[in-house]
Amino acid sequence: MIVALAGGTGGSKMVHGLALANGQRDLSAIVNTGDDGEFFGLLVCPDLDINLYCLAGVVAERGWGYADDTFHCLEGLSTYGREAWFGLGDRDLATHIHRTLLMRDGARLSDVVEDLRARLGVEARVMPMTDDPVRTIITTPSGERRFQEYLVRDGAREEIDSIRIEGLDAAAPAPGVLECIRDADLIVIAPSSPIVSIGTILGVPGVREAVAARRDRVIGVSPIIGGAPVEGPAQKFLRGAGYAECSARQMAEIYADVCATFVIDASDEAEAGAIEALGVRPVLTDILMPDRQARERLARVVIEAAG
Ligand code: GDP
Repeated sequence: MIVALAGGTGGSKMVHGLALANGQRDLSAIVNTGDDGEFFGLLVCPDLDINLYCLAGVVAERGWGYADDTFHCLEGLSTYGREAWFGLGDRDLATHIHRTLLMRDGARLSDVVEDLRARLGVEARVMPMTDDPVRTIITTPSGERRFQEYLVRDGAREEIDSIRIEGLDAAAPAPGVLECIRDADLIVIAPSSPIVSIGTILGVPGVREAVAARRDRVIGVSPIIGGAPVEGPAQKFLRGAGYAECSARQMAEIYADVCATFVIDASDEAEAGAIEALGVRPVLTDILMPDRQARERLARVVIEAAG
């Protein structure tokens, strides 16, 4: 069994690659829920949904949301003066309505994900990191923002003073999470944000220790190439968490206690020695995943590198 720790955009590309390379039956994804939020009374779980849509083959070309979706409901809400900055498509809204109704009837988030998974025809196991509500709060010079307000509404323009993950200390790993980590043949840390995706998953009490106990079987993939994130504002999150450096080496250092092997881009060869000095084995390859061929190829390299 391969187990992936994943956030949204970067994470789902790796999870998709692993599914293409090794099949879905032997794949489990433990997914960040710190980006979740309530919109119009509905619980929206962006990272879980990206992974589910990707595995179901229904993700939109842009990498999130449902393929060929329309936005009539959102347009209607904005006619009524509602804030419509978070791109919830009509078909996507069905997922959030269904999830919210199930949870109103007492279902846990992990039960909901299991229901969505089965109904969307996904064979891989997909798990939220926790069933408890966890919310990432970003503080900037102009005040506190919910994660999606900072990222999507405000376009991540401001520098970050601090990042608080509300509810994390009291969260329990979702059913199956610790067992999966314990029994995995291979654990892949996807190239997701080390702070607000993987950092959040590892921050669920008990998870970091469980992954560290399997360190020899853990392989990470860098989200940073040439000193910059492949996409998105990872630099701001790193600075906000107190890391001055944005590099593959810095990623390896953040993960040094939980992963024995770290995959970096071939163009970052100059950082390989510094990564080895951290006690982490560097593996060099092309780590960009623009299309399914690239995802599958990288996943094969990851699986082979783990031995
Ligand atoms: P979020 O939850 O949607 O913010 O997404 P993640 O945390 O899963 O991923 C964000 C990270 O993915 C960013 O730091 C990107 O640099 C990284 N990323 C996106 N696409 C790729 C890719 O093709 N290759 C690699 N190595 N990293 C990527």
